[in-house]
Amino acid sequence: MRLSQILISTLRDDPADAEIPSHKLLARGGYIVKIAAGVYTFAPLMWRVVKKFAQIVREELDREGANEVMLPIVQPKELWVSSGRWDRYVTDGIMFTLKDRKGSDMCLGPTHEEVMTAYVNAQVNSYKQLPVNCYQIQDKFRDEIRPRFGLMRGREFIMMDAYSFDADQSGLDAAYQKMRNAYCRIFERCGVKYTVVQADSGAIGGAGSEEFMVIADSGEDAILYCEASGYAANVEKAVSRLPEAPAGGEPRPLQKIATPGVKTVAQLEAFFPGWVAGRMAKTVLYHVTWKNKEKVVAVMMRGDLEINEVKLANALDALKVRLATDEEITAATGAEVGFAGPVGLPEDVPLLADESLQGRTNLLVGCNQTGYHCLDVNLGRDCRMPSWKELRLARAGEGCPLSGQPLQQARGIEVGHIFKLGIKYSKAMGATFMDQGGKPVPFVMGCYGIGVSRTPAAAVEQSFDDKGIVWPPAIAPFECVVAMLDPARAEQQELAGRLYQGLKAAGVDACLDDRAMSPGAKFKDNELLGFPVQVFVGRKAAEGQVEFLIRKGMQKSECAAGEVVARVLAALGR
Ligand code: ATP
Ligand code: MG
Repeated sequence: MRLSQILISTLRDDPADAEIPSHKLLARGGYIVKIAAGVYTFAPLMWRVVKKFAQIVREELDREGANEVMLPIVQPKELWVSSGRWDRYVTDGIMFTLKDRKGSDMCLGPTHEEVMTAYVNAQVNSYKQLPVNCYQIQDKFRDEIRPRFGLMRGREFIMMDAYSFDADQSGLDAAYQKMRNAYCRIFERCGVKYTVVQADSGAIGGAGSEEFMVIADSGEDAILYCEASGYAANVEKAVSRLPEAPAGGEPRPLQKIATPGVKTVAQLEAFFPGWVAGRMAKTVLYHVTWKNKEKVVAVMMRGDLEINEVKLANALDALKVRLATDEEITAATGAEVGFAGPVGLPEDVPLLADESLQGRTNLLVGCNQTGYHCLDVNLGRDCRMPSWKELRLARAGEGCPLSGQPLQQARGIEVGHIFKLGIKYSKAMGATFMDQGGKPVPFVMGCYGIGVSRTPAAAVEQSFDDKGIVWPPAIAPFECVVAMLDPARAEQQELAGRLYQGLKAAGVDACLDDRAMSPGAKFKDNELLGFPVQVFVGRKAAEGQVEFLIRKGMQKSECAAGEVVARVLAALGR
């Protein structure tokens, strides 16, 4: 392939909206071109990258017996009503909806559990036809609140989504393990550094899920992990050993103390010397939305610890939770912000507490009266007994739940997610097969996603330098470029052409850079584009000498033309 025939337009500057390296470099390299927020054109070189990654995905999934299909993007509302997800996705605002000419509601698929379940249900009647595993690689549409970071969080993006259908839980366990193994091979082959973490199941639902994370500073997810035990979890899901706090001692009588203007845990610590945060219980008010109602809920947490809002939403089975506004707090508690607490809390405000407070005595809490706090409060004696939940945000430095060693923190980019769904969708949608006894039972399902456009961007995030992209060879648009520094010169054309043919014959995915540009510009352009191996044919062509560059680490050397093929193969690890 000649680069002169490929539409390549590198830019001098980063686009103004690019915040992270992969977005800057992919835009500057002309790999992606924005058409609207979170909506991009994949230029020819980018499309080669995506196709290479998609091919790795296909090969590894096919090896596990999965079938590639192509499902419709445009889907009827009724299908989403049948699973119970229409309201949630529309309330979230994530769903692109449209009406057809007859006025029927449709949507652009943000994910395909419904369509796939309906499809398999129509095809599979008997346990004898199971297991089934189907996948597709296709555009998904999500009207993300904050589309950003280029391909990382698009509103139209490419996903591989797979769905497994089994007769029972052990079948699902086996299907899940196969997919997990395939995912590990996919990300290893792709050349990214990744880790598998326990994850929250989110809006997709079901029990048990893991995320594949590419470790990078720009990652939107926080991960806690322990090298000693191998424990790793998304912070949304993570648990840790409970940090120690001083004991409260035998219950003492409650005292109410004037604390004018003292509102935060830090201010209380200063106001009451000796009452460290671990002896306090803070009460945070949340506005909670369920399918049919909204309410303000009070949530208690030990003063030195934090609330995990994902765990809170799960514990309440809520669609959404957010901090209550000042007005909502005053309306619910009768006090100004900073004085909420379990003592005297109106009965109509539900009271939850984290398990870290269970059994603790003589707490310092708010009492819903502006300018006052209470000391020596004992839950259940001086106020309602809250309903106990596990709501604590695990933090770096706290003990690993398995080894007790301090947890470490890293940032990650979610490139894949695997779920054990169970019968959530099949039951809701009435998708059943006949079991051995001739009885209809719901399919036991798993679902599995990979960000096909996000993963190459994540790979760039892990592999770049001040000159540009350094593609991992497995997904590079070309593995090697042979560039003639002066394409007008016959001896350069001749040698470059010969080297290019030799590389092609040796199975290298090479391209020929015959573009008319100055040598300096050509070096720079190829550095930015990031081909793993670069061969420059210049003034020494007549002597049979070329410049050889391994892009990773910018390792430059001279090379005899006769050695080029062997050196390229060695550089590519073949
Ligand atoms: P996130 O938490 O990043 O919003 P998600 O959990 O909603 O992602 P899934 O529904 O699990 O995503 O989708 C499967 C995969 O698709 C994700 O692991 C991710 O790699 C990719 N993906 C999800 N949303 C986007 C997006 N807006 N742009 C690009 N890729 C995405
Ligand atoms: Mg996910």
